[in-house]
Amino acid sequence: MTSPRFSFTLHATDGKARTGTIAMQRGEIRTPAFMPVGTAATVKAMKPEAVRATGADIILGNTYHLMLRPGAERVARLGGLHKFMNWPRPILTDSGGYQVMSLSELRKLTEKGVEFRSHLDGSKHMLTPERSMEIQRLLGSDIVMAFDECPRADRPKDEIASSMELSMRWAKRSREGFDSGEEHAARAALFGIQQGALHEDLRRISAEKLIDIGFDGYAVGGLAVGEGQEAMFATLDFAPDMLPEDRPRYLMGVGKPDDLVGAVERGIDMFDCVLPTRSGRNGQAFTWNGPLNLRNARFAEDTGPLDDRCACPVCTTYSRAYIHHLVKSGEMLGAMLVTEHNLSFYQALMQGMRDAIAAGRFASFASDFRRDYLHAKA
Ligand SMILES: [Zn+2]
Repeated sequence: MTSPRFSFTLHATDGKARTGTIAMQRGEIRTPAFMPVGTAATVKAMKPEAVRATGADIILGNTYHLMLRPGAERVARLGGLHKFMNWPRPILTDSGGYQVMSLSELRKLTEKGVEFRSHLDGSKHMLTPERSMEIQRLLGSDIVMAFDECPRADRPKDEIASSMELSMRWAKRSREGFDSGEEHAARAALFGIQQGALHEDLRRISAEKLIDIGFDGYAVGGLAVGEGQEAMFATLDFAPDMLPEDRPRYLMGVGKPDDLVGAVERGIDMFDCVLPTRSGRNGQAFTWNGPLNLRNARFAEDTGPLDDRCACPVCTTYSRAYIHHLVKSGEMLGAMLVTEHNLSFYQALMQGMRDAIAAGRFASFASDFRRDYLHAKA
């Protein structure tokens, strides 16, 4: 029996929280899922087999970075992103739209797309919905994201509205571009992205337009762009409900452990964020009792593990004192160990949420989590 192109099966719901499985040809994705970010064809400081050992079913790759270096055509000639980086499981690629707006220079936005200069060497590029679909196809992406524009949430409402309308026209062109790649389209999935910032009426219009086009999954975009957790949760109180129940819902670019719990509580199934890896390189460890800054002198002679509730290879082997020393000395092993622990912690948090939803005890899981994580002494 061949694996399906894409299927999503819900196993249990508890309040708005859901747990299920996405099945794809390269493997299954347990939801709620956290996707480590592999920006430049690497989850920084981690070998792919170690990423898998943390419990990750899927990773994210960045179209913007990969199109500039090493280039999508080159990755395709080398056999695709999975082979190139030795990650045989599903990969989701973003569309490049968000990073063009946040990283590149001299952008020119038109109906056609975005013209920009590379932040690496100043070279000129054009990203359109069609080119974004082509790049994600060349990379061999399993879950392709529609090309959109993500404005800051604090822009005036009329700007947010016209940006959302543009993104919806681009979503239609993304659908057509994706479908034109017949062989790839037969084994990959395409997600649409809801926009509309914090506005309920715009979010509803966006959802309706996306559903009309039809996607395998739906992302809530345009959040985690500086609006703060309270405003994000207020939007998540209504935005996911507008998206089809029988499709996965993906909150892009989120977030802190307490963001993940609050978003799952509001019906989100998938996440990605650089936080566990970036923090790992900065000596910040996430634990069930809140984040720890390993640079702090109080860890200099602490023989305990990063987290005494964590079963990861770092916590069963190395002391806070040793990791403090590595981080203080700028040793790369410090970044590697804290990253590995952080990704393990994030996956353990997702597993904890999946188990709690399946057992119908998500509310108590969430309140226990908040008691320990948010009320811990930093
Ligand atoms: Zn650990």
